[in-house]
Amino acid sequence: MSKKKIGLASKVLMGLALGVIVGIIVFNLPSGTLRDTFLIDGLFQFVGQVFLRGIMMCVVPLVFVSLVNGAASMGDIKKLGKIGGKTVGFYLVTTAVAIVIGLGVAFIINPGVGLDMGSIEAVEVTTRESTSLAQIFYEMVPRNPIQALAEGNMLQIIVFAILTGIALTSIGEKGKKVLELFEQLNELVMKLVSIVMIIAPIGVFGLVARTFGQVGIAALFPLAKTVFGVYIALVIHGVVVYGGLLKGLTGLSPARFYKKFYPAMAVAFSTASSSATLPVTMDIAENDIGASKNIASFALPLGATINMDGTAIYQGVAAVFIAQVYGVELTVSMMATIVLSATLASIGTAGVPGAGSIMLTMVLTTVGLPLEGLGLILGVDRIFDMGRTAMNITGDAICTTIISKQEGEFNEEIWNSDRMKKETA
Ligand code: ASP
Repeated sequence: MSKKKIGLASKVLMGLALGVIVGIIVFNLPSGTLRDTFLIDGLFQFVGQVFLRGIMMCVVPLVFVSLVNGAASMGDIKKLGKIGGKTVGFYLVTTAVAIVIGLGVAFIINPGVGLDMGSIEAVEVTTRESTSLAQIFYEMVPRNPIQALAEGNMLQIIVFAILTGIALTSIGEKGKKVLELFEQLNELVMKLVSIVMIIAPIGVFGLVARTFGQVGIAALFPLAKTVFGVYIALVIHGVVVYGGLLKGLTGLSPARFYKKFYPAMAVAFSTASSSATLPVTMDIAENDIGASKNIASFALPLGATINMDGTAIYQGVAAVFIAQVYGVELTVSMMATIVLSATLASIGTAGVPGAGSIMLTMVLTTVGLPLEGLGLILGVDRIFDMGRTAMNITGDAICTTIISKQEGEFNEEIWNSDRMKKETA
């Protein structure tokens, strides 16, 4: 599967490159019917919109089904009691912190400033200026879940899906068939997404050619700034948050942790898949770092499914980029909505390449930001994906290490020794 994805990723990158070149050429054509009506508002708009609408088509079913499954996978935490609760708590809190860091870095480097798409084309921006924080919370509870699904009210869908997943596992045997059905539906929706993604190279070409056709080469710099912003935020999160938590809660050296853990990060970086990296993450956590086998065998697979700090950082930066490009001023309540929706979205983000960028559409929809800015970002998604996946699995291993230590199940001998890379399972 990841082979196929890599093929697609490079095709999308080619679509992006071609879109940049063709867009710049078109930008320099004399304005008139060919340039404006036929190309920019015709061909480019058409292929871009077909692709965007295809993605939007998948968002509601994907979010609902994947969150039911994600929440159902947490159902088992009951069995593990305190440790389970602590793990999930750690995952959610660090994810929320990650988005705040992403937003903070983005506001410092202003990735979207300098690219003004808002004045060039009117897009739908559905901001809710006057929403108070309390209102955001109570309005997350849907009065009518079917209406929430029909209207694409993401926060309400998320709440309903998580509760459904939890309820489903707690009825045990009786819910087994339905749970299986949801697993099958998950397959179905993922397949739908991959069908839509077949036209991603052309769709990205259209979106990007249109942007560059309208603003010329000036669009490149903001994109580079976005990549830079995401990586800076990833490093800050890894060093300050993870390093600080590890040192503060266990006294273990973050430098030693990273020295032992980096091979797993390298695998995550190159595969862009937390799930595919899981065996390596487990091996290193248990046999190099000294985490408890019991805790690792529960917390790491769970983390690969529901804990996505790197993805959350990316979504925060990307949301600011898109808001700035379209001249939307992000209010405090919109930012709170980003933190909330991206944290909850991470539960439903699969540990496979590209999943985070699909979930980004959900975050943008929740906040009411236009999806049109996605073309640029999706074109280089792999660059983001590699970094965010490496951080995603690091969060899982840090949590596992801290909890092992706190529960007195940490193996100091393994931590202090250096396993020469000899036999692995
Ligand atoms: N590729 C990421 C992972 O496997 C998810 C994402 O697309 O952000 O962790």
